[in-house]
Amino acid sequence: MTAAGDPDSAYVRMANLTKKFGDFTAVDAVSLDIRRGEIFCLLGGSGSGKTTLLRMLAGFERPSGGAIHIDGEDMSAIPPYERPVNMMFQSYALFPHMSVERNIAFGLEQEGLQRAEIRRQVGDILDIVKMGGFGSRKPHQLSGGQRQRVALARALVKRPKLLLLDEPLAALDRKLREHTQFELISIQQRLGVTCIVVTHDQEEAMTLGTRLGVMNHGRIAQVGTPSDIYESPVTRFVADFIGSVNMFEGRVSEDGAECVRIRSEELGCTVRAERSVHCVGGSTVWTAIRPEKINISRHRPLAASAQRADAAENVVRGTVREIAYMGDMSIYLVQLDSGRMMRVTLPNITRGTERGFAREESVWLSWHGSSPVVLTE
Ligand code: ATP
Repeated sequence: MTAAGDPDSAYVRMANLTKKFGDFTAVDAVSLDIRRGEIFCLLGGSGSGKTTLLRMLAGFERPSGGAIHIDGEDMSAIPPYERPVNMMFQSYALFPHMSVERNIAFGLEQEGLQRAEIRRQVGDILDIVKMGGFGSRKPHQLSGGQRQRVALARALVKRPKLLLLDEPLAALDRKLREHTQFELISIQQRLGVTCIVVTHDQEEAMTLGTRLGVMNHGRIAQVGTPSDIYESPVTRFVADFIGSVNMFEGRVSEDGAECVRIRSEELGCTVRAERSVHCVGGSTVWTAIRPEKINISRHRPLAASAQRADAAENVVRGTVREIAYMGDMSIYLVQLDSGRMMRVTLPNITRGTERGFAREESVWLSWHGSSPVVLTE
């Protein structure tokens, strides 16, 4: 058993977990620890193996290799109904002919609990998901968001120690999804249940997850907090998968103690990156710069003015080709003198248009040395 109350203890431990369907490897030697009481989000494109991983944890799918321990106990011989796990599926799978109350009570009835106790527990959980007045309705008399909360109540009523949620909010519209994300976090914190959430929606993963695991072709590409993954991706795949990124190939021209310099023909300048991995001089690397970390100006930035044009660092010239007004921010697609496009976002902090740039306007793009992430793979 892992130490209860230790926030860093591994509540779920997957070691070399593998699932093959015939010749195809859907989950490939995944080793991952999930901490007690956290919301861990598994994020990945369609077919990356997220659902298969959850189904193995729930016991619906038998691993082809590796092991799962939950709270220190080996799960290999434990059937689904004896695991301290509940899974909420992509489609909420509520019984259509049963009332909300009966839907939630179903699992407790199977356990043979007394009627009064079942009523009390159903009432409590309906209050927690704010569906107290809806017990007698049938699923078709509810909105999508309400059905989602009933499904959540049904998954929570048996007080599982581990709750597995497969795309729990996919059916909700954007506003309701955001609202429900915060509700889900608050319910999870009140009940202290450990959650693993599968989603392909990166914003959802960033909002919900204490930590994220990015999956690609059945493997975990990176695990970390949302800001780790966003600010310090370790591969081009992760950098590109999460958020928008400008990625340029280049060659390491200087590998100093405090910064690395990369000459990029695609970008048409030298990138000076302060935080970076160790790079071999002369090797090919990629620099990733997020669009919100780029300054756009009509005049050459002062810091760059002292530099010779052929030795410019972290500054390039280009022409605005496209502008998309998004309300809270605007996206500028700038074609560099090298021909490549760069994406820049600016928050619309005033209602006026005085900061705006026009299509075909000539601009300078620059960024701080802490902005580029250097990637070697
Ligand atoms: P999505 O986001 O589309 O639900 P996912 O990441 O959850 O994708 P999985 O459902 O885990 O992906 O599927 C991973 C891969 O395994 C897919 O290529 C899928 O076609 C394959 N797969 C899943 N179940 C089976 C099965 N029973 N038989 C054969 N292949 C399967």
